[in-house]
Amino acid sequence: MKRILGIMGAMAEEIDEVKTMLVDVKSVEVGGRAFYSGTINGIECVVVFSKWGKVAASITASILIGRFAITELLFVGTAGALAEGLKIGDIVVGQRLVQHDLDARPMIPRFELPLLNRVYVNSDVRLTGLAVRAVSKLLDRGVVQVMGEKNAKEFSIVAPALVLGDIASGDQFVNSAAKRNSILSELPDIQCVEMEGAAVAQACYEFDLPFAVIRVISDTADHNARIDFIRFVREVANAYAKAIVNEMTLLLD
Ligand code: SAH
Repeated sequence: MKRILGIMGAMAEEIDEVKTMLVDVKSVEVGGRAFYSGTINGIECVVVFSKWGKVAASITASILIGRFAITELLFVGTAGALAEGLKIGDIVVGQRLVQHDLDARPMIPRFELPLLNRVYVNSDVRLTGLAVRAVSKLLDRGVVQVMGEKNAKEFSIVAPALVLGDIASGDQFVNSAAKRNSILSELPDIQCVEMEGAAVAQACYEFDLPFAVIRVISDTADHNARIDFIRFVREVANAYAKAIVNEMTLLLD
């Protein structure tokens, strides 16, 4: 079977940057989304902005799978840190994904995916292993090379950590200590919070498709979140997304 890598990003700025790497690019609009096909480092890719939230992301993933016949899916985006010690600029590669706002009690236990009998969806071991290798290679080269000295200094990013761990998704931008702590009290092992990963994970699980999620920490999911977030995406996240996709496609053969 021919390999086609789907690449989804949660911010238009990140996807714009990844798009610049596509060779022989063609674009098609489906369901109000622009899908860009071409090759990156010789790998066939379809690149698309997921739009925000779980529903938007699952629609986008379903189109990539059904219409573009992708064989694997990589999600790149930003996330708010939940785990103690995670800093802005650190990278989380998703091991398990969970929807922190899913609650169909009393019929179904809290967080459990209806009719799927599971709370967590595991990312693909091979693809996630490649994601870890790709991110490690990138971080080994140093942050200045990825985002420039000015940005590294401005966001105090010195030596970003790479964490392999669990990610929670929900339809809310988490920007207060109260919201942050309430998620952590229910799901204490979660590294970071975002709005799409677990939806993409469920779509891939139901279509039996390998996927990986890579999230760069843009904020600490508290009252500073929005201000940090907007500047971070413009200045830093797009550079990370491009470098991550470049390394990842070099590792695929
Ligand atoms: N509404 C925002 C932008 C979109 S939502 C604005 O005011 O500009 C934020 C995106 O970043 C989502 O795609 C989500 O996955 C991710 N994200 C980053 N930090 C987050 C946080 N603290 N909580 C939830 N999602 C976050």
